[in-house]
Amino acid sequence: MTDNPKSLSSAPVSPEAYAVGGGSKETAHPPSVLPPVHLATTFVRDADNQYTSTFSYGRDDNATVRELEQALARLEGAHGPAYFFSSGMSAAVCLLLALGPGAKVVAPRVMYWGLRQWMKNDGPRHGIETTFVDFDDAAALDATLAEGTDLVWLETPGNPMWNIIDIADVAARAKASGAKVACDATVATPVLMRPLTLGADVVMHSATKYLNGHSDVVAGALAFAEPTPLADETRRIRAGMGPILAPLEAMLLRRGLRTLHVRVERQSANALAVAQYFKRHPAITEVLYPGLPSHPGHAIATRQMTGGFSGMLSLRVAGGEAKAIAVAARTRLWTRATSLGGVESLIEHRASIEGADSPVPRDLLRLSTGLEPVDELIADLEQALTDASTEDKS
Ligand code: PLP
Repeated sequence: MTDNPKSLSSAPVSPEAYAVGGGSKETAHPPSVLPPVHLATTFVRDADNQYTSTFSYGRDDNATVRELEQALARLEGAHGPAYFFSSGMSAAVCLLLALGPGAKVVAPRVMYWGLRQWMKNDGPRHGIETTFVDFDDAAALDATLAEGTDLVWLETPGNPMWNIIDIADVAARAKASGAKVACDATVATPVLMRPLTLGADVVMHSATKYLNGHSDVVAGALAFAEPTPLADETRRIRAGMGPILAPLEAMLLRRGLRTLHVRVERQSANALAVAQYFKRHPAITEVLYPGLPSHPGHAIATRQMTGGFSGMLSLRVAGGEAKAIAVAARTRLWTRATSLGGVESLIEHRASIEGADSPVPRDLLRLSTGLEPVDELIADLEQALTDASTEDKS
């Protein structure tokens, strides 16, 4: 706490203002506009052998990471702690390991493929079994819950078809059966959706994506609705294995978070404009975007998301896999790369990265819409579609 008479410590600060930096000055000494970066790996013990500062060693905790965690907890409306990790995968896996051997998990059939693979192949080695269900089928979900479930894992919008799951409805069903609910909200971000306010117990992010937003940090996060034993166990596992986010990465991520709201608002507006432009295009058989009334999850998305439907959409290309790959090869402004949520627009033939057992259609291109002028993004896709068709005929 600073002794600066202009301290903002007593001023009410909204989560959005805190994310921009409105609250960070409270802890800085001298009272700098930015908080300091704490690089120390070890901390001084008190003379009576205690650690009243609560910091002892860098694998357990770090003040730069903790300030970032406070910012996320506020954005998510969490009454429990938030924790940052060295990747989205390590965040999710630490939570799953915290359930302990014998745990039963339910997850969507279509979700981030890397975690689906972990749940399928690695989870059972730790005694964690996952059943994959279609969340549109309420009877199938109830039947699985009735068999005994510890955790329901949701991802909405779900990568890369952007399926929408009704968080409040699933949370009510899960709670009735005694299961906890975790939601991967990487794509929505707390700007558009706050799962904890809809009944989820934990919200997870690949912070590599929108929270950081500049494609230069790999990170993950969890925020807990309440301070529960599951939260404590997750933190214990993070401290034991060491995948806490490093301080310099935390500093970069904190910088990214300052512009989260403006980035996500612009990226959502750009994605909606791209989706609307291509929805009746002769070279596109389907546009997958929850912001379009034709999307099966549109009504639920309208209810549980505010301010937009995210910067992510997918296009199914007439002519199949070869044509889709040819289109991605001919874009100039959209960069051909995996990942999402950065300021630059990316395009990816998704099935190529997910492998043979992927449920993703082979003609699907996944688009992460960036901050470029949207008319240029649309024109670039148009020229790539035309170019790929011309090549076809020659
Ligand atoms: N969840 C979603 C929706 C993702 O898109 C990703 C990565 O692409 C992850 C989780 C995993 O995050 P990370 O790559 O930061 O480990």
